[in-house]
Amino acid sequence: MNKFLEHAKVSGSEILNDNVSEIVKNNDFFTIKTSSKKEINANFILIASWNKYRQLNVSWEKEFIWKWVSYCATCDWMFYRWREVVVVGWWNTALTEALYLAEICMKVHLVHRKSEFRAEKVLIDRIESHKNIEIILNDEVEEIKWNMFVEEILLKSWKVLKVDWIFVAVWNNPETKLFEPLWIELDESWYIKVDSRQKTSVEWIYAAWDITTNSNKFQQTLMSAAEWALAANSIHEDMLKLGN
Ligand SMILES: Cc1cc2nc3c(=O)[nH]c(=O)nc-3n(C[C@H](O)[C@H](O)[C@H](O)COP(=O)(O)OP(=O)(O)OC[C@H]3O[C@@H](n4cnc5c(N)ncnc54)[C@H](O)[C@@H]3O)c2cc1C
Repeated sequence: MNKFLEHAKVSGSEILNDNVSEIVKNNDFFTIKTSSKKEINANFILIASWNKYRQLNVSWEKEFIWKWVSYCATCDWMFYRWREVVVVGWWNTALTEALYLAEICMKVHLVHRKSEFRAEKVLIDRIESHKNIEIILNDEVEEIKWNMFVEEILLKSWKVLKVDWIFVAVWNNPETKLFEPLWIELDESWYIKVDSRQKTSVEWIYAAWDITTNSNKFQQTLMSAAEWALAANSIHEDMLKLGN
């Protein structure tokens, strides 16, 4: 990441460590207000705020993130290959990740606190017939138990799962509330809708990275960087057309 930062600086970007608190649309420019009371006027905006993984909020979860608690199977698969894991979740992403993990792990326990998954039927059918996946419904993670490493997951029903990793896929929260006053079009999961040039539904506003509907919502650094390059190029094209 430091290399990205250095590259941005060398290319002439000014880095402000501040929080954007409000964006106001004027006639032909935007005013970006920050928490430290700075105001910046801009003709174009490229939104790249984050898409946070929702956490379970159980004890030891935060402390073990990136060690034995994971939110992205395609990011961390090398750590739990051949191991026994628990996946927590109920939607398409959780079921897809469980199927993916079932290919590389010794055993996958899929835990959901309700009685039914809310996912595509084809995924539910595949999960139900997979010999490497144990489905545990109407139950929740109560506690992560560890000694030197994570050793057990205690469920609310007092069932104990002897696993090495816990994979949380309960939901993602694209942080798009800040942009609601601008009337940017979002999809049903609050991702910013963009076209093939990364342009949003609002003139002069572009979006890239994890919060957009592009790249099939595959949230990886490579895709993020590609969307950024595309958005920057689109803004440059618009500037050339405007003679800015
Ligand atoms: C635990 C974890 C492991 C991962 N592992 C991998 C991996 O191994 N390989 C891989 O390719 N990808 C991995 N990813 C995914 C990768 O990190 C993301 O795809 C990438 O970081 C997305 O970039 P982004 O810029 O969209 O979001 P982020 O990197 O989340 O950046 C968003 C930025 O927006 C800023 N921001 C938010 N709101 C405001 C505001 N109001 N004002 C100012 N700034 C704001 C935040 O401070 C943050 O810096 C992982 C993600 C996580 C969470």
